[in-house]
Amino acid sequence: MSIDPQTLLDWFDANARDLPWRHADCTPWGVLVSEIMLQQTPVARVLPVWRQWMERWPKPADLAAASQGEVLRAWGKLGYPRRALRLHTAANTIVAEHGGEVPADVDTLLSLPGIGAYTARAVAAFAYGRRAPVVDTNVRRVVARAVHGAAEAGPPSTKRDLDDVEALLPDGPDEARAARFSAALMELGALVCIARKPRCDDCPLFADCAWQKAGRPAYTGPTRPTQRYSGTDRHVRGLLLDVLRGTTGPVEKAQLDLAWPKAGQRDACLASLLSDGLVEQTADGRFALPGEH
Ligand code: SF4
Repeated sequence: MSIDPQTLLDWFDANARDLPWRHADCTPWGVLVSEIMLQQTPVARVLPVWRQWMERWPKPADLAAASQGEVLRAWGKLGYPRRALRLHTAANTIVAEHGGEVPADVDTLLSLPGIGAYTARAVAAFAYGRRAPVVDTNVRRVVARAVHGAAEAGPPSTKRDLDDVEALLPDGPDEARAARFSAALMELGALVCIARKPRCDDCPLFADCAWQKAGRPAYTGPTRPTQRYSGTDRHVRGLLLDVLRGTTGPVEKAQLDLAWPKAGQRDACLASLLSDGLVEQTADGRFALPGEH
């Protein structure tokens, strides 16, 4: 079972969203920043922050020269702020070891701090037009349905998932076509083969979709608990960081204590922010964003 590349590419040509990191004049650095931001945050929230970052830090060297505190402030409310520090560290390595240019091949990209299997292949494919299987949640879902006839993808396995998608990439020497196929597969999962209520009537793969042919069987594998946000440690960590982003220097613990009423959870979250390097403590016991004291 496979996916006809031309069918998917034709659909992509007609339906791909016009996103700035897909423009021909977007640099590999712009693609890398977009991929890190998009990992856990929807496009609409990423767009304004990505534009600000590209204006302020158009090259890796520009971001590398910024302080960690500046970078965390500019990350704003994108969530999972460790990604901001990872980008900053990667920028420093790109400057120190790669002449300030984002590497093009997957293995070198994987050697950058904080760049994993997905991001390395996404940058190789989308920034440099390399043939690389790019696997995110959307792609796993499309492959599960269209190729394997299952309603959901089930638990991830990096090797199996990469092998699955590698086998689907169009044959031939045209690497740019394979890269575009990877982008098209992701886009189909983001726009049509969506998690709840896939829009099968609008799908270019409908006629050959294995899940359709099997009669749309229900998913029977393990399920993940639905994630809530309010009241979680992630929420509390975000509230504590908001306090520090809203000031220009170190604050007393009492000011952080106002951010969340449950002392035990609040203190545990503050401790985790300190150990993640997202917050630092001054010699006199106050708290600040990294480097801002
Ligand atoms: S036909 Fe439906 S289930 Fe199959 S790939 Fe398209 S959107 Fe997904």
